Amino acid sequence: MAVSVKSEREIELMRESGRILGEVHEKLKEFIRPGISTLEIDIEGEKLIRSYDCIPNFLHYNGFPGSICVSINEEVVHGIPKKSRKLKEGDIVSLDCGLIYKGYHSDAARTYPVGDVDPEVLKLIKETENCFFEGIKFAKEGNHLHDISNAIADYAEKCGYGIVTALVGHGIGTSLHEDPSIPNYHMSNRGIKLVAGMTLAIEPMINLGRGDVDFLDDGWTCVTSDRLPSSHYENTILITKGEPEILTLPKR
Ligand code: MG
Ligand code: MG
Repeated sequence: MAVSVKSEREIELMRESGRILGEVHEKLKEFIRPGISTLEIDIEGEKLIRSYDCIPNFLHYNGFPGSICVSINEEVVHGIPKKSRKLKEGDIVSLDCGLIYKGYHSDAARTYPVGDVDPEVLKLIKETENCFFEGIKFAKEGNHLHDISNAIADYAEKCGYGIVTALVGHGIGTSLHEDPSIPNYHMSNRGIKLVAGMTLAIEPMINLGRGDVDFLDDGWTCVTSDRLPSSHYENTILITKGEPEILTLPKR
Protein backbone atom coordinates (compact mmCIF):
# COMPACT_ATOMS: atom_id res chain seq x y z
CA MET A 1 0.00 0.00 0.00
CA ALA A 2 1.67 3.15 -1.22
CA VAL A 3 0.15 6.37 0.00
CA SER A 4 0.81 9.22 -2.43
CA VAL A 5 2.64 12.29 -1.18
CA LYS A 6 1.78 15.31 -3.28
CA SER A 7 4.31 17.71 -4.72
CA GLU A 8 3.99 21.48 -4.17
CA ARG A 9 2.38 21.82 -7.61
CA GLU A 10 -0.11 19.04 -6.86
CA ILE A 11 -0.91 20.57 -3.49
CA GLU A 12 -1.82 23.84 -5.24
CA LEU A 13 -4.21 21.94 -7.51
CA MET A 14 -5.71 20.06 -4.53
CA ARG A 15 -6.18 23.41 -2.74
CA GLU A 16 -8.05 24.86 -5.69
CA SER A 17 -10.14 21.70 -6.14
CA GLY A 18 -11.05 21.82 -2.45
CA ARG A 19 -11.76 25.54 -2.37
CA ILE A 20 -14.19 25.20 -5.28
CA LEU A 21 -15.94 22.27 -3.60
CA GLY A 22 -16.26 24.33 -0.41
CA GLU A 23 -17.98 27.05 -2.43
CA VAL A 24 -20.24 24.51 -4.14
CA HIS A 25 -21.37 23.27 -0.71
CA GLU A 26 -22.00 26.83 0.51
CA LYS A 27 -24.17 27.57 -2.53
CA LEU A 28 -25.92 24.22 -2.48
CA LYS A 29 -26.93 24.74 1.15
CA GLU A 30 -29.22 27.57 0.01
CA PHE A 31 -31.44 25.05 -1.80
CA ILE A 32 -32.25 23.05 1.35
CA ARG A 33 -35.94 23.56 2.15
CA PRO A 34 -39.06 21.47 2.66
CA GLY A 35 -40.56 20.39 -0.67
CA ILE A 36 -37.41 20.29 -2.80
CA SER A 37 -36.73 16.90 -4.37
CA THR A 38 -33.40 15.15 -3.99
CA LEU A 39 -33.15 15.17 -7.80
CA GLU A 40 -33.48 18.98 -7.90
CA ILE A 41 -30.61 19.21 -5.38
CA ASP A 42 -28.54 16.94 -7.59
CA ILE A 43 -29.30 18.99 -10.71
CA GLU A 44 -28.36 22.25 -8.97
CA GLY A 45 -25.20 20.63 -7.59
CA GLU A 46 -24.08 19.38 -10.98
CA LYS A 47 -24.76 22.82 -12.51
CA LEU A 48 -22.68 24.48 -9.79
CA ILE A 49 -19.76 22.08 -10.22
CA ARG A 50 -19.76 22.53 -14.00
CA SER A 51 -20.01 26.33 -13.62
CA TYR A 52 -16.42 26.17 -12.26
CA ASP A 53 -15.34 24.08 -15.28
CA CYS A 54 -15.01 21.09 -12.97
CA ILE A 55 -16.31 17.54 -13.35
CA PRO A 56 -18.57 15.85 -10.76
CA ASN A 57 -16.55 12.80 -9.74
CA PHE A 58 -19.50 10.90 -8.26
CA LEU A 59 -21.45 10.89 -11.54
CA HIS A 60 -21.24 7.38 -13.06
CA TYR A 61 -18.72 6.32 -10.37
CA ASN A 62 -19.29 2.53 -10.33
CA GLY A 63 -22.56 3.39 -12.05
CA PHE A 64 -23.86 5.94 -9.53
CA PRO A 65 -26.56 7.90 -11.38
CA GLY A 66 -26.12 11.33 -9.73
CA SER A 67 -23.53 14.00 -8.98
CA ILE A 68 -24.59 14.45 -5.36
CA CYS A 69 -25.39 11.75 -2.81
CA VAL A 70 -28.47 13.01 -1.01
CA SER A 71 -29.22 10.97 2.10
CA ILE A 72 -32.19 11.67 4.37
CA ASN A 73 -32.60 10.76 8.07
CA GLU A 74 -31.78 7.04 8.50
CA GLU A 75 -29.91 7.03 5.19
CA VAL A 76 -26.22 7.13 6.09
CA VAL A 77 -24.69 7.77 2.66
CA HIS A 78 -25.12 7.11 -1.08
CA GLY A 79 -28.75 8.25 -1.32
CA ILE A 80 -29.73 8.28 -5.00
CA PRO A 81 -31.29 11.56 -6.18
CA LYS A 82 -34.96 11.04 -7.14
CA LYS A 83 -37.73 13.28 -8.42
CA SER A 84 -40.24 11.56 -6.13
CA ARG A 85 -38.16 11.97 -2.96
CA LYS A 86 -38.79 15.35 -1.32
CA LEU A 87 -37.37 16.92 1.81
CA LYS A 88 -39.85 17.66 4.55
CA GLU A 89 -39.90 19.74 7.70
CA GLY A 90 -38.03 17.95 10.51
CA ASP A 91 -35.79 15.87 8.24
CA ILE A 92 -32.03 15.97 8.23
CA VAL A 93 -30.25 15.63 4.93
CA SER A 94 -26.64 14.93 4.10
CA LEU A 95 -25.09 16.14 0.86
CA ASP A 96 -21.95 14.33 -0.15
CA CYS A 97 -20.20 15.46 -3.29
CA GLY A 98 -16.89 15.84 -4.99
CA LEU A 99 -15.31 17.25 -8.10
CA ILE A 100 -12.30 17.07 -10.33
CA TYR A 101 -10.27 20.19 -11.02
CA LYS A 102 -7.46 19.78 -13.56
CA GLY A 103 -7.24 16.08 -12.72
CA TYR A 104 -7.35 16.51 -8.92
CA HIS A 105 -10.22 15.25 -6.80
CA SER A 106 -11.87 16.75 -3.75
CA ASP A 107 -14.59 15.18 -1.59
CA ALA A 108 -16.71 16.65 1.22
CA ALA A 109 -20.02 16.06 2.98
CA ARG A 110 -22.31 18.19 5.12
CA THR A 111 -25.48 17.35 7.04
CA TYR A 112 -28.23 19.96 7.39
CA PRO A 113 -31.51 20.24 9.27
CA VAL A 114 -34.63 20.89 7.18
CA GLY A 115 -36.65 23.47 9.08
CA ASP A 116 -37.28 22.63 12.74
CA VAL A 117 -35.49 19.46 13.82
CA ASP A 118 -35.57 17.50 17.08
CA PRO A 119 -32.81 18.93 19.37
CA GLU A 120 -31.42 15.44 19.93
CA VAL A 121 -30.91 15.07 16.18
CA LEU A 122 -29.47 18.59 15.84
CA LYS A 123 -26.97 17.57 18.50
CA LEU A 124 -26.05 14.49 16.45
CA ILE A 125 -25.20 16.75 13.48
CA LYS A 126 -23.03 19.04 15.63
CA GLU A 127 -21.26 16.19 17.42
CA THR A 128 -20.50 14.43 14.12
CA GLU A 129 -18.71 17.62 13.02
CA ASN A 130 -16.93 17.61 16.37
CA CYS A 131 -15.80 14.00 15.74
CA PHE A 132 -14.07 15.23 12.59
CA PHE A 133 -12.34 18.09 14.43
CA GLU A 134 -11.30 15.80 17.30
CA GLY A 135 -9.81 13.43 14.74
CA ILE A 136 -7.82 16.01 12.84
CA LYS A 137 -6.15 17.23 16.01
CA PHE A 138 -3.87 14.24 15.34
CA ALA A 139 -3.53 14.83 11.60
CA LYS A 140 0.04 16.00 11.32
CA GLU A 141 3.40 14.68 10.21
CA GLY A 142 4.93 12.31 12.75
CA ASN A 143 1.61 11.08 14.11
CA HIS A 144 0.02 7.89 12.83
CA LEU A 145 -3.11 7.40 10.76
CA HIS A 146 -5.05 5.49 13.40
CA ASP A 147 -4.44 8.21 15.97
CA ILE A 148 -7.09 10.04 13.92
CA SER A 149 -9.40 6.99 13.88
CA ASN A 150 -9.09 6.46 17.61
CA ALA A 151 -9.76 10.12 18.43
CA ILE A 152 -12.93 10.08 16.30
CA ALA A 153 -14.07 6.82 17.91
CA ASP A 154 -13.34 8.03 21.45
CA TYR A 155 -15.39 11.16 20.92
CA ALA A 156 -18.35 9.40 19.26
CA GLU A 157 -18.45 6.78 22.00
CA LYS A 158 -18.28 9.44 24.70
CA CYS A 159 -21.40 10.94 23.11
CA GLY A 160 -23.07 7.51 23.19
CA TYR A 161 -23.44 7.24 19.43
CA GLY A 162 -23.02 4.32 17.06
CA ILE A 163 -20.10 4.43 14.64
CA VAL A 164 -20.55 3.19 11.09
CA THR A 165 -17.81 0.64 10.47
CA ALA A 166 -18.98 -0.60 7.06
CA LEU A 167 -17.59 2.49 5.35
CA VAL A 168 -14.44 4.53 5.97
CA GLY A 169 -12.51 7.61 4.88
CA HIS A 170 -9.74 7.44 2.30
CA GLY A 171 -6.76 8.99 0.65
CA ILE A 172 -7.55 11.22 -2.33
CA GLY A 173 -5.67 12.87 -5.19
CA THR A 174 -5.63 11.91 -8.86
CA SER A 175 -8.28 9.33 -7.90
CA LEU A 176 -11.34 9.78 -5.71
CA HIS A 177 -10.46 6.83 -3.51
CA GLU A 178 -6.80 6.16 -2.82
CA ASP A 179 -4.93 4.42 -0.04
CA PRO A 180 -5.05 4.52 2.90
CA SER A 181 -8.45 3.54 4.31
CA ILE A 182 -9.29 5.72 7.30
CA PRO A 183 -11.59 3.99 9.82
CA ASN A 184 -13.73 6.00 12.20
CA TYR A 185 -13.55 3.19 14.76
CA HIS A 186 -10.94 1.98 17.24
CA MET A 187 -7.85 0.35 15.80
CA SER A 188 -5.49 -1.80 17.82
CA ASN A 189 -2.40 -0.48 16.02
CA ARG A 190 -1.40 3.06 15.14
CA GLY A 191 -1.27 2.48 11.38
CA ILE A 192 1.04 4.19 8.92
CA LYS A 193 3.05 7.26 9.78
CA LEU A 194 1.61 10.52 8.45
CA VAL A 195 3.81 12.55 6.12
CA ALA A 196 3.41 16.16 4.97
CA GLY A 197 1.86 16.22 1.50
CA MET A 198 -0.63 13.39 2.05
CA THR A 199 -4.20 14.38 1.23
CA LEU A 200 -6.96 12.55 3.08
CA ALA A 201 -10.76 12.56 3.10
CA ILE A 202 -11.78 12.19 6.75
CA GLU A 203 -15.46 11.39 7.08
CA PRO A 204 -17.13 10.28 10.30
CA MET A 205 -20.54 8.65 9.73
CA ILE A 206 -22.22 8.65 13.11
CA ASN A 207 -25.58 7.20 14.16
CA LEU A 208 -27.99 8.21 16.89
CA GLY A 209 -28.53 4.50 17.61
CA ARG A 210 -26.36 1.53 16.79
CA GLY A 211 -23.58 1.55 14.22
CA ASP A 212 -24.98 -1.31 12.12
CA VAL A 213 -26.12 -0.54 8.60
CA ASP A 214 -28.00 -2.23 5.76
CA PHE A 215 -27.75 -1.65 2.02
CA LEU A 216 -31.04 -1.21 0.18
CA ASP A 217 -32.02 -3.16 -2.93
CA ASP A 218 -31.18 -0.19 -5.15
CA GLY A 219 -27.57 -1.33 -4.67
CA TRP A 220 -26.47 1.99 -3.21
CA THR A 221 -28.40 3.47 -0.31
CA CYS A 222 -26.82 2.69 3.05
CA VAL A 223 -29.29 2.95 5.96
CA THR A 224 -29.03 2.41 9.70
CA SER A 225 -30.28 -1.05 10.67
CA ASP A 226 -32.39 0.43 13.48
CA ARG A 227 -33.60 3.19 11.10
CA LEU A 228 -32.56 5.92 13.54
CA PRO A 229 -30.96 9.07 12.05
CA SER A 230 -27.38 9.23 10.88
CA SER A 231 -25.08 12.17 10.25
CA HIS A 232 -22.09 12.54 7.93
CA TYR A 233 -19.38 15.19 7.89
CA GLU A 234 -16.38 15.10 5.60
CA ASN A 235 -13.54 17.29 4.43
CA THR A 236 -10.47 16.72 2.31
CA ILE A 237 -7.42 17.74 4.33
CA LEU A 238 -3.71 18.22 3.71
CA ILE A 239 -1.18 16.79 6.15
CA THR A 240 1.58 19.28 7.00
CA LYS A 241 4.34 19.42 9.58
CA GLY A 242 2.00 21.52 11.72
CA GLU A 243 -1.76 21.99 11.78
CA PRO A 244 -3.64 20.20 8.98
CA GLU A 245 -5.07 22.36 6.22
CA ILE A 246 -8.78 21.78 5.62
CA LEU A 247 -8.98 22.08 1.84
CA THR A 248 -12.74 21.86 1.30
CA LEU A 249 -13.83 25.06 3.01
CA PRO A 250 -14.95 28.03 0.88
CA LYS A 251 -12.29 30.44 2.12
CA ARG A 252 -9.18 29.85 4.15
MG1 MG B 1 -17.75 12.08 0.22
MG1 MG C 1 -15.19 10.32 0.82
